[in-house]
Amino acid sequence: ASMRKSRIEKTKTVCTYCGVGCSFEVWTKGRDILKIEPSVDAPVNGVSTCIKGKWGWDFVNSEERLTKPLIRQGDRFVESSWDEALSLIAEKLGGIRDQHGSDALAYIASSKCSNEENYIFQKFARSIMGTNNVDNCSRYCQSPATSGLMRTVGLGGDTGTIQDIQQAELVLIVGANPAESHPVLATRVKRAHKLHGQKLIVSDIRKNEMAERADLHLHPKPSSDLVWLSAVTKYIIDQGWENREFLDQHVEGFDAYRESLAPYTLEYAEENSGLSREELIRTAEMIHQSGSTCILWAMGVTQHRGGTDTSTAICNLLLTTGNFARPGTGAYPLRGHNNVQGACDFGTMPNFFPGYEKVSDDAVRSRYEQAWGVKLPDQPGLDNHQMVDAIEDGRIKGMYLFGEEMAFVDSNSNFVEEMFAKLDFFVVQDIFFSRTAQFADVVLPASPSLEKDGTFTNTERRIQRFHQALEPLGDSRPDWRIIQDVANALGANWNYRHPSEIMDEAASLAPMFAGVSYERLEGWSSQVWPVKPDGSSTELLYTDGFAFPDGKARLYPVDWTLPFEPEAEYDLHLNNGRLLEHFHEGNMTYQSENIRHKVPSTWLEVSPELAAERGIETGAKVRLVSPFGAVKLSVVVTDRVRGKELYLPMNTQHASEAVNRLTSSHTDKVTHTPSYKEINVRMEVLEDR
Ligand code: SF4
Repeated sequence: ASMRKSRIEKTKTVCTYCGVGCSFEVWTKGRDILKIEPSVDAPVNGVSTCIKGKWGWDFVNSEERLTKPLIRQGDRFVESSWDEALSLIAEKLGGIRDQHGSDALAYIASSKCSNEENYIFQKFARSIMGTNNVDNCSRYCQSPATSGLMRTVGLGGDTGTIQDIQQAELVLIVGANPAESHPVLATRVKRAHKLHGQKLIVSDIRKNEMAERADLHLHPKPSSDLVWLSAVTKYIIDQGWENREFLDQHVEGFDAYRESLAPYTLEYAEENSGLSREELIRTAEMIHQSGSTCILWAMGVTQHRGGTDTSTAICNLLLTTGNFARPGTGAYPLRGHNNVQGACDFGTMPNFFPGYEKVSDDAVRSRYEQAWGVKLPDQPGLDNHQMVDAIEDGRIKGMYLFGEEMAFVDSNSNFVEEMFAKLDFFVVQDIFFSRTAQFADVVLPASPSLEKDGTFTNTERRIQRFHQALEPLGDSRPDWRIIQDVANALGANWNYRHPSEIMDEAASLAPMFAGVSYERLEGWSSQVWPVKPDGSSTELLYTDGFAFPDGKARLYPVDWTLPFEPEAEYDLHLNNGRLLEHFHEGNMTYQSENIRHKVPSTWLEVSPELAAERGIETGAKVRLVSPFGAVKLSVVVTDRVRGKELYLPMNTQHASEAVNRLTSSHTDKVTHTPSYKEINVRMEVLEDR
């Protein structure tokens, strides 16, 4: 530690922000972060980074960092020792388990934390506490995409790599804004489009940067993607442009699928999606003429009641045209957090052990029972949406959450906060005193990625190591250590000395990670799952068949979920999403001076037409009201949005501006992902403008 103070140290790390998974060296002297130095050897980004990866690290030295455990006393929190906090947690969580049963407790994991931390958290919930009530924030974003992929091709991950996206002849982006949300990945598409003749179609209700660059920008009506995707697929089949050979050899269910498309005529799509016949035909023709097509999608698709079905429609289109298992093709749901892929992969889900093996599968469960030496629950647990409902009706009494700002990012946050206040006992573990922590009984101080070792898995299934650059601040501890401490306080006898030992255990149990090891991840090396026992990666999925017993993919018929008919007083549609500078809700980037001074607050985007109608200009103050809450915002007039469609970035420092005061508790029918993108509001112009 003393050496660390006086010398410049260079430590390889992986970005703590988005799912692209850039890696670089961080130069430190003592606790000062001198610079971020990317390398040509970095497998994803080479010498590129975005503003967050380059400048967004000073939050680790923020004065707001938690450095001691806190225990609630009435309305305030007092600092405590680790021993005191751990014994209180053991007494209370253990007490609820003994009195109300294992399923009266719920566990929320973190997509900002490592694979190893997620692995031991699900092991704790399952083997020590005896429940499958464990979930992570992919429930808020990409679960519908995972589910659409599992229905059709079998595995819940991007089917190729960022390299494949770069090689595609045509990239179709649906409901995503990668120039801001996945910046370095977007630069790859921008370059291929500008310099190498790649074609680009962007479908989005907001004219984002990629839409401006696109050869074709589709602006469908909100919540109508399934309609136009199905109409384009039907048109392709009607022209005889489907990939016959691929379908015959690799795909089941073509006839039933073709019949299911009967309603999706061009006329029907024109009426219901608002896209013109010409736009629909042009899209079909561009896909037909392209030798290799990738489809990228994100929350604009998934955060709807029909999110899984639209994700399925995307996979159906790719299967019909034979765009899988070749370089430059495939399905790419773009992952949000840096380790949302890994959190799911390593089993913090109510229905899956690590590697997507079902908890209800007897053979799989007995493998884990043998290894862990306990009997395990055989029924899937509650997902995080169901957990909140189960607090309301008294089934869930206690919760342990780490690295997740659930009071703020779950939809209908007024309701979620009310539920958190009802919990008998709530443990929150984080690097900052989050909004969620306000509802906690015990708050545990954790260490961010620069203060620990571990691995993250990016959107393309690439596992990369990050190394400790700084000592944990104050009395904070790495999350894996805290989880082990809590487990031991509740009767476990774990003695992991380093995250590599946790990874070794996961690799020995989950076939998907059989050949993963820290030795093989040294330096800039990485591994892409599934990783065979000899350590070799699988960059392109399904070249040996799809992940079903017969090796064939499934065309999966889906129906359109009609958009809500909003009450007349809620006359505006409210879209929401990210900003380049801030990450998600902003709980790390608002603690970064470098970033906060650049973008200090959020705003509401209003179209020029609507601004003229309401007599407002940029800078006007408005109140948005939905049936679930209200927020106050400052207006920016821009033609990025059209007509009665508004856009509100989801990040903010102020709860009074937070989009989730307005969102409902409606969810995707299959995965319970909140339908954040289906909100209607009214806008009141405030006098004090
Ligand atoms: Fe980090 Fe994503 Fe930016 Fe890369 S693109 S530096 S992973 S935030």
